[in-house]
Amino acid sequence: MSNPYAWLEQSLETIHRADWYRSVKTIQSCPGAVVILDGQEVINFASNDYLGLAGDERLIEAATRAIREFGTGSTGSRLLSGHRELHRELEQAIASLKQTEDAVIFSSGYLANLGAITALVGKRDLILSDQYNHSSLKNGAILSGATVIEYPHGDVETIKKELQQVRQNYRRCLIITDAVFSMDGDLCPLPALLRVGEEFSCMVLVDEAHSTAVLGINGFGCVEHFGYTHYPLIQMGTLSKALGSLGGYVAGSRTLVDFLRNRAPSWIYTTALSPGDTAAALAAIQIVQQEPQRRDRLWSNVAYLRQLFAQQLPHLKLLPSESPILCFQLANAGEAVRVGKQLISAGIFAPAIRPPTVPTSRVRISMMATHQKKHIEKLVNVLADIGLLFDV
Ligand SMILES: *Cc1c(COP(=O)(O)O)cnc(C)c1O
Repeated sequence: MSNPYAWLEQSLETIHRADWYRSVKTIQSCPGAVVILDGQEVINFASNDYLGLAGDERLIEAATRAIREFGTGSTGSRLLSGHRELHRELEQAIASLKQTEDAVIFSSGYLANLGAITALVGKRDLILSDQYNHSSLKNGAILSGATVIEYPHGDVETIKKELQQVRQNYRRCLIITDAVFSMDGDLCPLPALLRVGEEFSCMVLVDEAHSTAVLGINGFGCVEHFGYTHYPLIQMGTLSKALGSLGGYVAGSRTLVDFLRNRAPSWIYTTALSPGDTAAALAAIQIVQQEPQRRDRLWSNVAYLRQLFAQQLPHLKLLPSESPILCFQLANAGEAVRVGKQLISAGIFAPAIRPPTVPTSRVRISMMATHQKKHIEKLVNVLADIGLLFDV
């Protein structure tokens, strides 16, 4: 009899051959603009902690207090023994941040997408999904059993054509999209998506993972950025990026949220968010509302990096971006690995992202409010020294 696990090793070999192999790196310090990575101090351009809150004393204090009072685990699902007053407070704070009637928190953003999508649509329904959407949206769509049409990145005309042809064959329709595309940094065409949604009676779910507390004058996100704050749509997001904690949420109408509490399996059948994570996210939302200057710092850092790129590296192939995520394209996966390694040895942590995560190899730079000018200058100087190979 042959070994039923033998294929695993062969598959890993294929992954190595394609330069697709990944492994973890160890951060040995508190999160921040400078971290210790595998024993070496590096400037951190690889974090989703846009506002620098994950290491903030006030979040640490809030989490510690909550753990002292309520323990480390929430011990059950929300509907059984897991619910605490803190959870409700956090949901109300999210609803107030997003200016929606209500919100529901999940144990991660991934689970929020799986739960919302599988609750909202099923076998008789249609999903239109951007080709560059996050894995959690794509897998939520598959899990829902709905028919899924993947449209070319940001292409509202294709959505329209598809809907004209097939909309009448389906009961409900759901358009799902990242607000900020996580591996590119560009924005979804939200106004056009909402218009086409209205025309063809489609729900719209926008994933604000990278835009919550980052975009919009008040930090409400991409929806506020485009001026649709009180529009009926489904706003999903995460507590684990700019909010420096862990967990996900869906915000929207009272009816929507009430429905999800009754129908989203990844909310009903999983353990409630831990007291520490809940309290940290709650403290983060208060800071986001009280300290808009953190957001201003983030955006001035983005502007400064762009200015230095234009001056010192005019040939850099920057991908279109309207967020603190800036990517530049490289010739191939091998070149991405080389550049990633050289950056690390020069004290810069900016990951090389390769297929299959993205269609083309690139270096992805994530800006933070807590980066100092000298950090940004060093990044640009090191890139100028490395000598980059752009052409495919
Ligand atoms: C990170 C991310 C998620 C998942 O959120 P987690 O809280 O990390 O599970 C979902 N969607 C997008 C677009 C993301 O970038």
